[in-house]
Amino acid sequence: MKFNKAKDRPHGLGKNRCVRCNRHEAHIKIHGLNYCRECFKEVSKEMGFKKYGKEV
Ligand SMILES: [Zn+2]
Repeated sequence: MKFNKAKDRPHGLGKNRCVRCNRHEAHIKIHGLNYCRECFKEVSKEMGFKKYGKEV
């Protein structure tokens, strides 16, 4: 089989996963959250984080 299930690794790539979409790249663990940048963008909006810069 070419596509095996990803191993459960205690370290490495699978260590920090987004709790929302389960991807491991661009991981943000600020304020005790564990999100990727995409989910953080959405979640932060919901949680009322202010986006500094473009929007007022
Ligand atoms: Zn995510």
